[in-house]
Amino acid sequence: MRVKVGIPRGMFYHDYYLLWKRFFDNLEVEVVMSPKTNRDILNTGVQACVDEACLPVKVFHGHVDYLKDKVDYIFIPKFISLYRGEYCCPKHLGLPDMVRHSIDGLPQIIDTEVNLRKSNRRLKKAVLETGRYFTNNPRKILKAFDEAYDKYKQYVRLMWQGVIPIDLVGFYDSQHLKTNENKNSYKKRILLLGHSYNVYDEYINMNLANKLKNRNIKVITTEMIDEEIARYYALKLPKRMFWTHGQRIVGGAFSLIEKKAIDGVIYLSAFGCGLDSVLMDLVERKAKENQIPYTLLTIDEHTGEAGLNTRIEAFIDMLEWRDGDETNFPTHG
Ligand code: SF4
Repeated sequence: MRVKVGIPRGMFYHDYYLLWKRFFDNLEVEVVMSPKTNRDILNTGVQACVDEACLPVKVFHGHVDYLKDKVDYIFIPKFISLYRGEYCCPKHLGLPDMVRHSIDGLPQIIDTEVNLRKSNRRLKKAVLETGRYFTNNPRKILKAFDEAYDKYKQYVRLMWQGVIPIDLVGFYDSQHLKTNENKNSYKKRILLLGHSYNVYDEYINMNLANKLKNRNIKVITTEMIDEEIARYYALKLPKRMFWTHGQRIVGGAFSLIEKKAIDGVIYLSAFGCGLDSVLMDLVERKAKENQIPYTLLTIDEHTGEAGLNTRIEAFIDMLEWRDGDETNFPTHG
C-alpha cells in the first residue's frame, strides 16, 4: 500500500496544488485532498480554530480535520518568504503550529520551511527536505520537482493569457486542456480582487465568480495578470511593499486601472485580515483617481448569501447605468 499524503484544500492550495500534486505523484506517493469547502468543513474549522483568526485560516483547520484520519502525513508548508527581501503574511508562517495546537489526533505534519528571503537556493533545500519523507534518493526528488515545476509553469502561463483558474477543467490530470471559458463578447470586465483562497473558494464566497459570469461579466483575477507587470506597477507606491501577495494584488490592480482595461473592481476581503485593510485602501484610492467604480465585499463565517447578491446586483446595475449617463452615477457602490 502506498503512503498517503493529505493536502488540505485551503490557503495556498489554489496557488500551488498542481505543483505539489505532480511532485508527490512523481515520488509515487498517493495524494488525498479534502473536498471543496462545505458547511461541515467550515463549522469544524470555526470550532477548532482560535476566534481571532481570519476566515481562510479557520476554513483551513476544517480541511485538516477532515483529512486527519485518512492519511499518513498532512502537507502544511511553513511559508515565510517567496521572494528575495519579501515576506508572506505571518499567518502562513504560523499555520502548521496553529493547526498542531488546535486539532488533536493529527498524523505527522510535513511542515517544510519555505524561506527565499535571502536566496532562491533555499527552494532546493525545501524540496529535498520534503522528498526525504519518502525516499533517500536526492536525484529522484529533484527530478520529481523539476517535472512538476515545468507543468506548473504551463498552468501559470495559461492564466496570464486570460483564462480564469476555475475554468481550467481537467488541467491537473491531463495534458489535454479544455476550458469552460465563454468566448462570447462580455458586457463588462470586472477585476475580482483578493487572496486566492477567498476568490476561488466557491463556498465561502458564495460562488461569486460564477454569479458574475452568469451576468455576462468577464471576470479577471490577480493570478491572470503577468507577475512582472504587477511588480512593475507596485513599484509606483511611495514605499516598497514587502508582502509578496500585497504586491501582486495592488500592482495587478494598478496596472488594469491605469490602463482603464476594466469597468469595475470588486475587492473580496476576509474579515479580520490586516493585510487587506491596507491593500483595499490603496486600490480604492487608485480606482477613485481614475473614475473606475469600486466596491468592497467582506466575508466571514456569518455572511449571508442574500446580502451578497444584493450588493453584486446593485454594483452591476450601476455599471450599466453609467453607460447611459456617466456623470450622474458615482464610481463607488
Ligand atoms: S493575508 Fe489576510 S486572509 Fe490571508 S492569511 Fe493573512 S490575515 Fe488571513
